[in-house]
Amino acid sequence: MSIDELQEQVEKFKGEMDTLEEVCDTLPECKEDDACETCETYKKIDALNAKIEELEEKIESILSEDDDDYEDDD
Ligand SMILES: [Zn+2]
Repeated sequence: MSIDELQEQVEKFKGEMDTLEEVCDTLPECKEDDACETCETYKKIDALNAKIEELEEKIESILSEDDDDYEDDD
């Protein structure tokens, strides 16, 4: 996968995260402090966050490999 594609995915996940955060903000059960630790929406946000971090790590490793001989992952 190319860096462009990875970055596109990061942007997509970030957009999904924003949408979920807006949903989370409007949920009555999320109004209380720490309520989000148990809410389903927050779990999804957390999962997206992990994916974004994974992709960003991939992008960085591709960028740092770029100077050396380029190898394809798969
Ligand atoms: Zn929530």
